[in-house]
Amino acid sequence: MGSIQALRGTRDILPQEVAYWQQLEGVARQILSKAAYQEIRPPIFERTELFERGIGEATDIVGKEMYTFNDRATPPRSVTLRPEGTAGVVRAYIQNSLYATGGVQRLWYTGPMFRYENPQAGRQRQFHQLGVEVIGSASARADVEVIAIATDILQTLGLKNLHLNLNSVGNPEDRHQYREALVTYFTTYQDELDKDSQDRLTRNPLRILDSKDQRTQEIAQDAPSILDYLGSDSQRHFEQVQQLLGDLGIPYQINPRLVRGLDYYTHTAFEIISDDLGAQATVCGGGRYDGLVEELGSNPTPAVGWAMGLERLMILLQELVEAPQQVLDFYLVSRGTLAEAQGLQLAQKLRQAGFAVELDLSGSAFGKQFKRADRSGAIACLVLGEAEAEAKMVNLKWLKSGEQLAITQADLLERTDELRGQIADKLQSN
Ligand code: ATP
Ligand code: MG
Repeated sequence: MGSIQALRGTRDILPQEVAYWQQLEGVARQILSKAAYQEIRPPIFERTELFERGIGEATDIVGKEMYTFNDRATPPRSVTLRPEGTAGVVRAYIQNSLYATGGVQRLWYTGPMFRYENPQAGRQRQFHQLGVEVIGSASARADVEVIAIATDILQTLGLKNLHLNLNSVGNPEDRHQYREALVTYFTTYQDELDKDSQDRLTRNPLRILDSKDQRTQEIAQDAPSILDYLGSDSQRHFEQVQQLLGDLGIPYQINPRLVRGLDYYTHTAFEIISDDLGAQATVCGGGRYDGLVEELGSNPTPAVGWAMGLERLMILLQELVEAPQQVLDFYLVSRGTLAEAQGLQLAQKLRQAGFAVELDLSGSAFGKQFKRADRSGAIACLVLGEAEAEAKMVNLKWLKSGEQLAITQADLLERTDELRGQIADKLQSN
């Protein structure tokens, strides 16, 4: 029988890659907590209806990308693996009355998302996002705060060649006018549009601007611009955002073709794009979604947020830096019944005292265990043979210099401060 392979569009994140993931999460966590954002962990599956209402039925995500199935409930009930994070966070905000504390909720999340897409570099069916949602502020400062935080995270990770693209999609009234202008314009070219765009012409014409088809893109070049359809409130908001970005020294480019694929977005829309990623170049996408909280059944509440695609960041990060190595203090070698039992105890006590200790479990000849000790990257090797075990001793060997000393196990455990100092010295001289 053949072995079972992971599903197409999913991948294992192997131990040597996990260091990068932890680095990224560590940087994000620190920057977010300094800005008073709190982590939230909503469930990974929800009622299908949440995404239908929250993302919009005319979007690619809801139309053809969701992992949707009936669970075992009677009567049948449709559930969906979350394709994105915002709808679940807003559902949690409403259900748990997070608005009751008054003021603004600043939330962030990270975890896997699921979309039935065509897998390619930077595009998977199970992928990971880290996102923020600021719920309860209509201020342009909130838009700019979330953009500034995204920028900070990417800069702190050391990523370069990133560009911020900015647009406003106005409010629903502005968009209503714009939509009509778009339909009129694209109808002239109806036969030349790609198949999806032809379908969108009546259902969701803004999305035609998003088409990846070359001819459609050419046609879209001369389409009317949303910026000519913004009412005075929308214009003012957009100008404030630009002013505040300028004050913070965050460069941006206005791209009037930038529309987010999701129906609940209002005003600010933005993307951060990398020069180093080929076709799947957007590492962060977000914007304002003043319509969503009401759409999901609560009082109208303004909100703004973004989501980063972590696989794409990981591609950039791995090219940039060496994997952070785990540092091992001791590699413990033992052989013989008594020695092996004492070795396990000693390893455990050293770990409780704060040292990183790898215990060799092989029971093989000392020579083989020593080779593994050398390869482990540990600072020192602890050696327990039957003779040491009988005498409650242990041999400590500094692996770089080869210096050795015999010490009682009790002494070793008593002199942990001294040991820590010695290890720090050896690390420094490496
Ligand atoms: P794209 O245009 O690349 O399909 P999107 O507009 O569908 O992106 P969003 O829904 O805004 O993306 O998600 C935010 C970010 O999540 C994207 O900018 C991207 O970095 C990442 N992302 C989206 N879909 C995938 C996927 N299938 N695999 C990996 N990352 C993804
Ligand atoms: Mg997509």
